[in-house]
Amino acid sequence: MVTQEKEPIINIQGVSKKYGSVVVLHDINLKIYPGEFVILVGPSGAGKSTLIRLLNREEKPDSGKIIVAGRDITKLSSGELPYYRRNIGTVFQDYKLLPTRNAWENVAYALEVADVSDEEIRQRVPKVLKAVNLGDHLDAYPNQLSGGEAQRVSIARALIHNPKILIADEPTGNLDPEAGQEIADILEKINCQGTVVLLATHNRDLVDKMRKRVITMKQGRIVLDQRQGRYNG
Ligand code: ADP
Repeated sequence: MVTQEKEPIINIQGVSKKYGSVVVLHDINLKIYPGEFVILVGPSGAGKSTLIRLLNREEKPDSGKIIVAGRDITKLSSGELPYYRRNIGTVFQDYKLLPTRNAWENVAYALEVADVSDEEIRQRVPKVLKAVNLGDHLDAYPNQLSGGEAQRVSIARALIHNPKILIADEPTGNLDPEAGQEIADILEKINCQGTVVLLATHNRDLVDKMRKRVITMKQGRIVLDQRQGRYNG
């Protein structure tokens, strides 16, 4: 149950973004509240990935504010970015795993670069891989994993810092329906444990089954925002 009296965890206010002279986001306004699971749909080119790149501060908007957990992230300094990004786990269609590292090492790497002690790494990594049903694949390299398993390693890596928000950009795009369903189930479980999930997807079947808040974008605008929505992208 989402209580709208709470402060939004994500508050996008009047955000516009151009590439050259092409406007790809037009005055986007969007509030996402603690506890929510939000699905972003819309045809290719609608601006979903651009919005996600603004949220994880890979890019900045040309105008507007993006307040995440009370801070305007358009104003973060480069020194503050690594800390900010630990609060935002991100998962992509193509997994982005390091091919020369096994599942355990791919997840551990995210902690190593954050200067977490070896002892803590040994405790946290197996726990998070078990949470995505990969307790039996700790030593497997990315090329030894199915697409669904590789995506679950990528989710484990995104979760390792206990982020407040998990953003998944087309995570089931390369997966068969069964593996896609397992990813959706894991995202729902993560959401039930308190993490806000923002899922951008073209997967009509999953969207229609999940009955979450569905935001539809077209040509850089939000054209529909429905509770318990269906796919209409
Ligand atoms: P979606 O994720 O909904 O498919 P995108 O955010 O990827 O949409 O793209 C929105 C629009 O912005 C498209 O017209 C795309 O061609 C354009 N675009 C995206 N990234 C860039 C970029 N780095 N440079 C120029 N145009 C871009």
